[in-house]
Amino acid sequence: MKSNNILATDLDGTLTRGGDDPIKPQVKESLLHLKNSGWILILATGRDREYLMRRSDIKWVFDAWVTEAGLAVYLPSDGTYRCFASDEWIMEIKKLTKFPFIIEKENTVAFGIHFLNVVKRELQRIEVDAIFRSNKGLVMLLPEGINKAYGVMEALKLLNVNGPIVAIGDSEIDLELFKVARFKATVANAEEALKKEADYIASQENGDGVTEIIKSLSSQNVSQWLSLQKVDHPRLFHIK
Ligand SMILES: [Mg+2]
Repeated sequence: MKSNNILATDLDGTLTRGGDDPIKPQVKESLLHLKNSGWILILATGRDREYLMRRSDIKWVFDAWVTEAGLAVYLPSDGTYRCFASDEWIMEIKKLTKFPFIIEKENTVAFGIHFLNVVKRELQRIEVDAIFRSNKGLVMLLPEGINKAYGVMEALKLLNVNGPIVAIGDSEIDLELFKVARFKATVANAEEALKKEADYIASQENGDGVTEIIKSLSSQNVSQWLSLQKVDHPRLFHIK
């Protein structure tokens, strides 16, 4: 197994402003610079693979895509794809698409938070277990135990690498990712809950903030911190 530094980053509200906003060329450049210096880059997003495949700005940047908030992993280099839900779970969950407000994703569904009670009742009726992961008003259904951190750890197994993880995110759905990271960073537009846990809060928003964070990784403080063998108390180190 190879040992590398690993960067796991969210997409919407972190690398970009969200929606179909593309990654700015200078942000992509800083990511590729990191990759060329031996870092493993992992995209950890709520988006699904089908959507990401249509985006040219993502192509050839990341070693792995953790999609649907940890539910699946895709390796662009060889097309490996793993979904961590059973076929039966996916089939049951997709029954919810009978409701017009349901947004169908590759392996699960999502919906606006105001439909939460309707969906809860229906899941009880069809006797399916799912956890509700809310991200900025949109709720996604996931099997128990699935989150972005789970997906990232599975991606590392598939890539056959390990090493200290730097995590970057902007909202509460990224908090689990922080739990497996040695260095946790966030952009200026991040939710308060994330800022509270972060080792570094960028002064700039979205992609510009990520470029700032990537620059901070080459500082002596941070590179020393990443090369430590064991994390006892990450909070001992704060550079914000
Ligand atoms: Mg986000």
